[in-house]
Amino acid sequence: MTSLTASHAADLVAALLFILSLAGLSQHRTSRAGVVYGIAGMALALVATVVVAAQSITAGAVALIVLAMVLGAAMGLWRARRVEMTQMPELIAVLHSFVGLAAVLVGWNSYLEVESHGTAQTRIGADLLGIHHAEVFIGIFIGAVTFTGSIVAFLKLSARIKSRPLMLPGKNALNVGALAAFVALTVWFTISPDLALMIAVTVLALALGWHLVASIGGGDMPVVVSMLNSYSGWAAAAAGFLLDNNLLIVTGALVGSSGAYLSYIMCKAMNRSFLSVIAGGFGIEAPSGGEEDHGEHREVRAAEAAEMLAQARSVVITPGYGMAVAQAQHPVAELTRHLRERGVEVRFGVHPVAGRLPGHMNVLLAEAKVPYDIVLEMDEINDDFADTSVVLVIGANDTVNPAATEDPTSPIAGMPVLRVWEAEQVIVFKRSMASGYAGVQNPLFFRENSGMLFGDAKQSVEEILRALGTDSRREAATAAR
Ligand code: NDP
Repeated sequence: MTSLTASHAADLVAALLFILSLAGLSQHRTSRAGVVYGIAGMALALVATVVVAAQSITAGAVALIVLAMVLGAAMGLWRARRVEMTQMPELIAVLHSFVGLAAVLVGWNSYLEVESHGTAQTRIGADLLGIHHAEVFIGIFIGAVTFTGSIVAFLKLSARIKSRPLMLPGKNALNVGALAAFVALTVWFTISPDLALMIAVTVLALALGWHLVASIGGGDMPVVVSMLNSYSGWAAAAAGFLLDNNLLIVTGALVGSSGAYLSYIMCKAMNRSFLSVIAGGFGIEAPSGGEEDHGEHREVRAAEAAEMLAQARSVVITPGYGMAVAQAQHPVAELTRHLRERGVEVRFGVHPVAGRLPGHMNVLLAEAKVPYDIVLEMDEINDDFADTSVVLVIGANDTVNPAATEDPTSPIAGMPVLRVWEAEQVIVFKRSMASGYAGVQNPLFFRENSGMLFGDAKQSVEEILRALGTDSRREAATAAR
């Protein structure tokens, strides 16, 4: 078997491992195996690529590749070990931006290689030159859109810039115009390739990526992250065409199509238009911002909250991003145990995009050993709020905002939310009156049956536990074990 045949066989096995990995990751039970398949596939792909490359490049170049791999692996390991759960989406956005940047660099390299050596010295025949030029342009375009789009997503997710949508005048016309300009430039470039056109398409795509994601509001960010995941896959596939690497094409197509399908499913769950989100909020008018006067809010203390809970027949806890920030899951689990021992029915209502990554709340609650059968999804719990004595909104905001169902001009209008306000009493745990991730005010806080319990969620829950007469530290330690 020649080394080329061996490398093709390795590509095939790696592609199958990636498919098994995607299948494994689609269910909790098999997700660990999915990760192992992915690692094995990527290790095999790297070894096979380097072994084949080593036959046509100098030993110095191989050493450089190995050095780059070691450095990359060390940086990846270091970052993965340090990252907090709440920072995962921003880390993913940064990783997508790397894929986009790599595709741009591969495109530029491929163009410069052909231009400097001429077609005779490269693998491209004169008859295929037009196709090659189109590949270069498409690769750079997708890569650059992914690169700046992911950087904006990173800045929004890490709260370095506001998550409100950017509303430039004629934003839809700008996006459509940029796409039309890209098509025109591609045709021009295939006929008459030129450095100025390369620079033009790169700048155009960088600006478009930035604008597309900047125009999308905070409430749609989960879909944007999965959409950028899909774009990064297509960018990798485009780089695969330029590098003549079949495995990169297959892997890119797998990531691109699975990311697109995930974005579609998320759009359906969030009642969003898929086309509108991928087109940078196409057709969405400037939001009202929900800044109208909602009246006064009422404050409650931990002792009052404890009293309400002691009297309650049924309690629903709706956790959100703030529970993750406060790391309040252990005292929350302890409160749950305590109330259940007193005969109170306690359940959890988890919104599909609560927190900052899909399944965020489920992971935290599982970590604190909350029984799985009392953790319900939004659709399973929403009809029960009207029959609930007390709802504890722990660090959730957008996912319990009634404006989504009641105010058609709200940026989150139409998004399904947990209808907590239908309960007899609602206690909202947060530190201030600040808005949630989507940047919109929450009328829930001003309802007559709502009480605001200000402070860090962990401390507030611990105070309630003390008021209920439990030894919170001992029980928290037991829970953590
Ligand atoms: P939000 O982000 O809407 O609100 C979180 C609330 O937690 C804030 O109002 C904040 O108020 C409060 N908070 C923060 N820290 C603490 C603390 N230490 N103690 C108590 N409260 C705290 O949360 P939701 O989970 O309701 O909504 C998620 C949002 O994130 C949605 O808009 C969703 O679209 C978006 N998103 C979700 C992703 C996903 O995949 N799940 C990915 C990207 C975005 P205060 O500062 O006053 O304390």
